Amino acid sequence: MKKNQHNNLAIKWNDKIERNAVLIYYIVLLQCTWPQIETTTRHSTVKAMLLSDVHLLGPRFGHWFDKLRREWQMYRTFQTAMTLHNPQVVFILGDIFDEGHQCSEKEFNNYVKRFHSVFSVPDNTKLYVVIGNHDIGFHYGISPQLKERFERSFNTSSVEMLVINSNIFVLVNSMALHGDNCFLCKPAEDKLKEISETLQCAKDGGVSKKCKKYKSLPMYSPPIFLQHFPLYRPSDSHCKEPDSAPSQIINEPFREFWDCLARGSTSKVLDYLEPRAAFSGHTHHGCFTLHRERIPEWTLPSFSWRNKNDPSFILATFAPDTFKIAKCYMPKESTVIRLYMLVKKLQSDMQDYFL
Ligand SMILES: [Zn+2]
Repeated sequence: MKKNQHNNLAIKWNDKIERNAVLIYYIVLLQCTWPQIETTTRHSTVKAMLLSDVHLLGPRFGHWFDKLRREWQMYRTFQTAMTLHNPQVVFILGDIFDEGHQCSEKEFNNYVKRFHSVFSVPDNTKLYVVIGNHDIGFHYGISPQLKERFERSFNTSSVEMLVINSNIFVLVNSMALHGDNCFLCKPAEDKLKEISETLQCAKDGGVSKKCKKYKSLPMYSPPIFLQHFPLYRPSDSHCKEPDSAPSQIINEPFREFWDCLARGSTSKVLDYLEPRAAFSGHTHHGCFTLHRERIPEWTLPSFSWRNKNDPSFILATFAPDTFKIAKCYMPKESTVIRLYMLVKKLQSDMQDYFL
């Protein structure tokens, strides 16, 4: 079968599923609502949607049908969530591409266009992307050119501080936290130090002389830390979420720098920022971890059905003095397919009955 025949077949199949099963996305996602918080700073809340590891397939790997089918599902879920929940801000925690680190300029430009068509957001929603290893490579594979083209296309950088309605978010490129003074790590660490000083000045009311050189913040609140790798943990064995790693791999030891941030980098980040919460991705499985007995970290599973049968995303309401999260499970791929088969069977039974 030729490629365009494949595509036509997939589009027809998707159309059928779309007509028969589109309601399921609304029904499932309607069950998820914004968490309510009690805050003394009511005008300073942010409603944020967080997701991770969408892994849009590239030109080399992945089957044509897989590419169409899974991207359609992500498009359907994301756009349904935009309509129903209308977040003020969306954070995607890295690995937005599967082959971002190994494609040509032309392929990369097409990739960026595809990303914006699947994850388009309304005018009143801001979208921020954290850099993942599949976007630019692991630490030793990153060239200045790979880093720059990604940062340019998504208007991002290795370390970034955002202040949204007085809530502070720090977005970090995990691969820039090797601590080896390379072209990537040296500026990242300098920037982290600068943010640390800025936060300290806001905390102390900016009385110190040195505070003049730092950006002044509307008010101090501990930041929310966002990155692709999880902070250091020995394995996923403590993870008890419904979407945690399967039993065959849950006890596998994590390798520092590959599966999670290294122990030393984790300590440094927590010392510099003293965050009130952390969010990460990369493992493709859900996990909740408490660091230093007070800093919660949520690791988000992959948003793609290619990596997870029951993907999820997070809706979080932040205020400077409090926050709450709700985990939203998406329709299971197996459920959508079963529903499609059921509708087909009903259609054929009804035809038999009336003929
Ligand atoms: Zn990754």
